[in-house]
Amino acid sequence: MNVFKFGGASISSADSMKNIAKLIADQAYAQTRIVNVISAIGKTTNALEQVVRLTLSQQYEEALSEWHAILAYHLAFLDQLAINDNDLNKSIEHIDQYIKSRIIEPINTHGNFLYDQIVSQGEVLSTKIIATYFHQNYEPSSWVDARTWIKTDSNYTDANIDWKSTQEAIQTNINTINTRIVFTQGFLGGTPEGFYTTLGREGSDFSAAIIASSLVCDRVTIWKDVLGVYNADPKLFDFARLMPKISYQEAIEMTYYGAQVIHPKTIKPLKNKKISLHVRSFLEPKSEGTIVADFDQIDYPPIVVYRENQVMYRFQVKDFSFLDEANLGKIIATFSDLSYRIKLIQATAIDLVIVADEKVNKTDSILDKLQDIFTITLTKNIKLLTIRHANQEILERLYPKNNVLITQKTSDTIQFVLTKA
Ligand code: ASP
Ligand code: MG
Repeated sequence: MNVFKFGGASISSADSMKNIAKLIADQAYAQTRIVNVISAIGKTTNALEQVVRLTLSQQYEEALSEWHAILAYHLAFLDQLAINDNDLNKSIEHIDQYIKSRIIEPINTHGNFLYDQIVSQGEVLSTKIIATYFHQNYEPSSWVDARTWIKTDSNYTDANIDWKSTQEAIQTNINTINTRIVFTQGFLGGTPEGFYTTLGREGSDFSAAIIASSLVCDRVTIWKDVLGVYNADPKLFDFARLMPKISYQEAIEMTYYGAQVIHPKTIKPLKNKKISLHVRSFLEPKSEGTIVADFDQIDYPPIVVYRENQVMYRFQVKDFSFLDEANLGKIIATFSDLSYRIKLIQATAIDLVIVADEKVNKTDSILDKLQDIFTITLTKNIKLLTIRHANQEILERLYPKNNVLITQKTSDTIQFVLTKA
């Protein structure tokens, strides 16, 4: 059994969708069952988020017209892929009615709930379209509603997986499916009541890992428009090169510091089950890409993760007392409750500094929840440079000469918090 994951960019046009279908049908994989975990087409998720925003700010006309544009965009795919399928037409009609009813009657609806019910439809549409195209042109395929596989709580927009129910559901359900090829949605789950939930932006990689770890599965392949995992962003650094092998541990560290090739939550479920993760290019499916597995003794090149749009929080206790464990605990718990990932943390006797991605809503919540107890100073627009396995050469090249707010060093990682300048 194989699990393939395809992101929005891999299906952003009818031609690229055809290319993906061809790849799935390739003889190279003919001996294995494939569960395909698919994201929404192109930038659909952003567009659907806009529908939600407009709805919540009661701009119903604008929300409807944004939705109509999204629908028209998907219908054009049917034309270009020469699909004419009654079931598919009915499903799309149903989704259209559903979203319109959500836009028109959002009264008393919780924003995050509304978000998940509307934004989820991007993945529902993309998977219905590709599954139909696939069985019309290649072989029979099944479409699985992710709500029946990925069981979550109702923490809408950032749902938590109920691992036991999820594994049971997937293991039972897969045996009832008699096609070799299966399509399901990334990024989505369902509550016990059957409402959609989402797992956090870019969560489809995580979906693939959840599904693979619930099945008897050898490997997960994430098909991307890059050749694999690089030691630095090739758009920013000329020394960037592909790493053919990395360990689970290294992948966890890289994504923790903000490398964006793989969603941070993806590695752990795979590591636990020793399922290897392959990052490969759908543009060059013959090349091997990167394998993430249980390797030790890899001689890594320096790995550089560079993140802009960071914000630095400085917390001081209002009465100038020491920042004791209880106070530290309050701050960390608040970040944790908001699922707000901390990228760097530094404590002194009187203050605590935290660096994280700039996210307006989360910053507002942090201020809201903590500013009674702490004086909070924000520094926006900063950058975080993380170097792992640094060598002399890379340090000479990248060691920042000025604009450094914080330097933090451990045995294999050095981090710099930099101002914009
Ligand atoms: N479509 C979702 C997003 O864009 C999930 C994903 O692509 O992984 O965030
Ligand atoms: Mg996407």
